[in-house]
Amino acid sequence: MKFFKRIQTRKINIDGVTIGGGSPIVVQSMTNTNSRDWKATVKQIKQLQEAGCEIVRVSLPDMEAAYNVSKIKKNIKIPLVADIHFDYRIALEAIKQGIDKLRINPGNIGSKDRVEALVKEAKKAHIPIRIGVNAGSLKKVYNFSDNFSRAKALANAAMEHVKILEKHSFQDVVVSLKASNIDTTVQAYKIFASKRNYPLHLGITEAGSIFSGTVKSSAGLGIMLYYGIGDTIRVSLTADPVEEVKTAYSLLQSMELRNSGIEIVSCPTCARCEVDLIKIVSEVEKKISTMKGLKKLSKPIKVALMGCVVNGPGEAKDADFGIAGGKHTGILFKDGKVIGKVSSDKWVEKVISMIKQYSVIARKL
Ligand code: SF4
Repeated sequence: MKFFKRIQTRKINIDGVTIGGGSPIVVQSMTNTNSRDWKATVKQIKQLQEAGCEIVRVSLPDMEAAYNVSKIKKNIKIPLVADIHFDYRIALEAIKQGIDKLRINPGNIGSKDRVEALVKEAKKAHIPIRIGVNAGSLKKVYNFSDNFSRAKALANAAMEHVKILEKHSFQDVVVSLKASNIDTTVQAYKIFASKRNYPLHLGITEAGSIFSGTVKSSAGLGIMLYYGIGDTIRVSLTADPVEEVKTAYSLLQSMELRNSGIEIVSCPTCARCEVDLIKIVSEVEKKISTMKGLKKLSKPIKVALMGCVVNGPGEAKDADFGIAGGKHTGILFKDGKVIGKVSSDKWVEKVISMIKQYSVIARKL
């Protein structure tokens, strides 16, 4: 049982996917294709769907892109969110075209009248709105020299817009308060979570490349998730968005909040290791990433791949199965018991065939 508890939020429905109210934390990503090219955008969304993305956001820079919403929608299976900056009329067109949710940025959407016009149409269409505050587009945030004051400014900006929506009895609201500084972001979410129970979309904006962005997002999102904050996440990376989805599942699985199908436990290797464990684990992970249906398992299959018998049997006890290295070979454990040997060139093959067996068994349970 986990020590940390999730904060209860309102449940919001986005074309059949629920966010908040204790629902599993939803994994989102965003396309980086030119949305004026609907075929390229659909192609990327299909790759994201395949990777397990549950809600996808697409930026609509102009009307030409907004006219593509219905064509994109017809060709994908997951809810589509329109990311709108500056021009509220693009959002109105996206609603006409059947968009499932809007994300508006208080820093640039303009006057209260414009927000009100959007609220009325969103209400008629029964679609939620995310108030997505971003420190970079709220210039006044940078007038403050300390992180806490910046966090308060972010939370105030979100509250200002939330109140406009509430004035119209609109409660299908999701909120995000992103900054690229972890301290500011965490404080902003904490302040907002103490004031309203709308579901929160978590992210660390402009987090960076696949390596540094993964580390920064995991640090920031990990803190908030541990406080029980967060109903949906987007790991923002300067990379193929499929990597965002993989990272999000891996992060959520590491906190036992979602199941990505397989959990690999492997040691860092040392002088005792006599197999090429780094290569083996990387090949196993590559093959697993192409296996379908693993996320549907009710609990992850835990696999221990250890360089030697010092920690191998111990780790394998807790795993569904595992291999601990010996001299160019490996001892195969299943449910804590030794069941055979595997030569080092056959580890990858063996692990994949065992995962297939386990996933069939798990599906039948
Ligand atoms: S399991 Fe063995 S090889 Fe791996 S780090 Fe520990 S002692 Fe070294």
